[in-house]
Amino acid sequence: MPPRYLYLDMNAYFASVEQQLCPELRGRPVCVVPVEAETTVCIAASYEARRYGVKTGTPVYEARRRAPGLVVVRARPRVYVEVHRQILAAVERVLPVEAVRSIDEMRFVLMKNEAPRAVELAKALKESIRQNVGDALKASVGIGPNRFLAKVATELEKPDGLVVLGGGNFPQALWKLELRDLPGIGRRMEARLHRLGIYTVRQLTEAPRELLRRAWGGVLGERMYANLRGVDLPEIPTKRRSFSQSHVLPPELRRPEKARAVAARLVVKAAARMRKAGYAAGSMTLALRFLSGDDHHGFVLLAPTQATRTLLKALDRLWPHGRCREALKVAVVLGHLVEHPGLPLFPEDRKNHLLALAVDRVNARFGPDTVYYGGMAGVRDAGEYRIAFDKIPDFSV
Ligand SMILES: [Mg+2]
Repeated sequence: MPPRYLYLDMNAYFASVEQQLCPELRGRPVCVVPVEAETTVCIAASYEARRYGVKTGTPVYEARRRAPGLVVVRARPRVYVEVHRQILAAVERVLPVEAVRSIDEMRFVLMKNEAPRAVELAKALKESIRQNVGDALKASVGIGPNRFLAKVATELEKPDGLVVLGGGNFPQALWKLELRDLPGIGRRMEARLHRLGIYTVRQLTEAPRELLRRAWGGVLGERMYANLRGVDLPEIPTKRRSFSQSHVLPPELRRPEKARAVAARLVVKAAARMRKAGYAAGSMTLALRFLSGDDHHGFVLLAPTQATRTLLKALDRLWPHGRCREALKVAVVLGHLVEHPGLPLFPEDRKNHLLALAVDRVNARFGPDTVYYGGMAGVRDAGEYRIAFDKIPDFSV
């Protein structure tokens, strides 16, 4: 099985960025916490902190107890996005990126003539990041005959890993992983596999095709079976390109604050449809047509998110505060969709909403880079105009 894909996963990304930018944090246990005060769990931990058992989801008080000298850093989402751009620029000096999978993961395709140099190219990618972005940033690179195995290979050696899957080590090299380490196996699928008597990755690699068909309910099981055997399957095409909502405003909703409330409602609607279809948004576009005839367009790239709250914050950033006049039409588009079949749906009315969100998001390899902290005044105002916001949890943070 010749190497076809190269997958790059930054190690402890947020914590490493902090260590890169603040040299005094290097070599020290660091954990990054979301900005929301009550969300006191670590969303990232440096390897020094991990040695003490601090990881994503560890409550901060617990992390402090475990890791003496722990430095708790508030997340700086925009900085992580900026460094992400620098990393992209650095790796593209070596190989064109096929797909950005999240804020800290990207994938490359190898041409036939590049395949024999796969390991060399992987090293060059790491070196380019080291030289052009910083040496506190480490990546695990996986090389494999298909997209699935290239990604899985990044799980096998951390930090600073470089693993080739598909040679003589195959599939035994996978056996030390947990079922949940494999893409496409979330909590629910793991439970389902347990019910079918599959508890280990070894059992999964040895299971007959028919059993995997049953576990996944058809084609996806076939794909898992083939993926585990190194078959290079075409990607499932994304069926959707965007979710959009628009509204032509009646005279009583044309004032800026009312138009703002309508826009928020459109975001809520589009986000609900998007989640139902199993997607996360990687971008948002806002389009406004003013009564005067001119337009306002705003666009922002996001780390893929399913969270209404995050999307509303993005809207707040896009909104032309102070420059908005009487509006005639509002449109919102959620684009750059990513499929996240394993991700649990956003909990609409969970009390622990923020906590769950932070943990879910990071578990699904999202980043808090989508979390922008703008005033939500416009949305709160919306309630006064009797637009249904009952699906949004409490904003008064
Ligand atoms: Mg990572």
